[in-house]
Amino acid sequence: MDRQPFVAGNWKMNTNAQDGRSLVEALVAEAGSETGATMAVCPPFVYLSAIAEIIADSNIALGAQNMCSEDKGAFTAEVSPHMLTDCGCDYVIVGHSERRHIYGETDAMVNAKVHKALEVGLKPIVCVGETLKEREQDRTMSVIERHVAWGLYGLSSEQALQVTVAYEPVWAIGTGKVAEPEDANAVHAFIRGILGKTFGEENAAQMRIQYGGSVKESNVERLSEMTDIDGFLVGGASLKAAEFAQIIKKAVKVKSG
Ligand code: PEP
Repeated sequence: MDRQPFVAGNWKMNTNAQDGRSLVEALVAEAGSETGATMAVCPPFVYLSAIAEIIADSNIALGAQNMCSEDKGAFTAEVSPHMLTDCGCDYVIVGHSERRHIYGETDAMVNAKVHKALEVGLKPIVCVGETLKEREQDRTMSVIERHVAWGLYGLSSEQALQVTVAYEPVWAIGTGKVAEPEDANAVHAFIRGILGKTFGEENAAQMRIQYGGSVKESNVERLSEMTDIDGFLVGGASLKAAEFAQIIKKAVKVKSG
């Protein structure tokens, strides 16, 4: 099964208006016409509209880093999924480990967001991943199973096909410690197994599972060689246009070669 790689950049709470604009202008120039990968940038909410204008004529899509699971109402400082589609978003990151661990998002909250995103036509990127402690206690697979089963609970197979799962071991995020490609691939294969049991093998074979955690130009090729790694959710390295463009190009080269 050929799955086109999907590379998304999570800017987190970085950049300012000017730097964000320059970053994405450079990215459009370097990778905007790439057709071998699905590409997205996920800037902070307040810059979504400005970035949408710059990527409008490119192959780069727009994603948000989070959303509220409600349509509207008295939810001070929250951002509704409709506001994201208004700004031109196609994707939304849901359940990033920083949301789970710093802001206490639960599996039930993640699941509510996934359902709401799909209802309004946003494609969720659902983050799953174990902490260092959970890994040391040999609980990686049980944590992943819980995150995937709960995160995607209640979806139809048709809806599941709109979902990307991002495996992001928490200990590898922003730390410079990348998972060994073979170890990451074993988790990806495990995730695909869960998706297969839940949504059918044929559907699971089409679903993309990204890896995230200190992905860089220097390690992307080895990770891309893995059978079940279908692209990347990139934090720090997505803030450098030239490096992010190289990550995209190298992923395309490995996957198409
Ligand atoms: C992330 O935040 O999703 C991430 C993977 O960050 P980094 O690439 O910086 O580890």
